[in-house]
Amino acid sequence: FGFKGCQKIRGAQIRGLLEAKDFFLFDCDGVIWHGENAITGAAKVVNALIRRGKNVVFVTNNSTRPRENYVNKFTRLGFTDVMLDQIFSSSYCSALYLRDVVKVRGQVFVIGCEGLRMELLEAGIPCVEETDDPDATIYNCALAPDVKAVLVGHDDKLTFLKLAKASCYLRDPECLFLATDNDPWHPLSGGRILPGSGSLTAALEVASGRKATVIGKPSCFMFECISSQFRGVDPAQCLMVGDRLETDMLFGSNCGLDTMLTLTGVSQIEEAQEYRNSDLTTNRSYVPDYVVDTIADFLPAFED
Ligand code: PLP
Ligand code: CA
Repeated sequence: FGFKGCQKIRGAQIRGLLEAKDFFLFDCDGVIWHGENAITGAAKVVNALIRRGKNVVFVTNNSTRPRENYVNKFTRLGFTDVMLDQIFSSSYCSALYLRDVVKVRGQVFVIGCEGLRMELLEAGIPCVEETDDPDATIYNCALAPDVKAVLVGHDDKLTFLKLAKASCYLRDPECLFLATDNDPWHPLSGGRILPGSGSLTAALEVASGRKATVIGKPSCFMFECISSQFRGVDPAQCLMVGDRLETDMLFGSNCGLDTMLTLTGVSQIEEAQEYRNSDLTTNRSYVPDYVVDTIADFLPAFED
């Protein structure tokens, strides 16, 4: 008798789980690295899984870099076996969504970093040029006539003018409203935080009276992208490893994957237990199946 989930596992249980699964999905920040620092032992774990013939992919809501940059970052941090086709970022998946799902005709107005635009351009999706005219205001600027989607991602150069333009484009009910992710905030070192793109999307949702379609975790679209590139992936064979209950664990639950929380990132085990003990059945989707302190806890399982 008791509650299912939140099982802290070690030793032989980890070994058993790693043997049972053949497809591993790793969130990046908080699981694999903290910003520019790899989590101790993470590179060894990832390299060992790949060498054992396991499928390993990375699912990150960080939309600020194109996939090529992630390959470089993995290599730089000692993850020597990671290749482009293993990386599923919210910017890459947004480009696939615009190109293959909605088959957008016309331009996309992007709130986001240069890396997001680069990913869209690589997929052949035209973006509205950014003007850097310092005198431009919403009263005097030009609006593009053929904007068919507004895409909101993390933007460290957000301006009121960008929000105002996006609000105007969203008046057109035929203009889609997409968000790379809905993350509320991200931890920085020293107790500081960074507002996430969810906070920017929220501003536009209020201004437009509309709801954005979210591409990144916890939406299943990222898993659809993975399934279409790794044909025959069986959700029952997958383990989703992440550090945030509201994105990673919910994503795993939404896609029918077993989930594992690592305690190297945002969420604490107490929060998972609160969701588990709550009377609201919808809260169960946030509860990880398994919990480890760090993915370095996998290492003994690779010793013969
Ligand atoms: N978006 C931005 C801008 C970030 O800085 C981060 C984490 O640092 C994320 C998203 C979350 O990334 P992940 O899904 O890999 O945890
Ligand atoms: Ca994370």
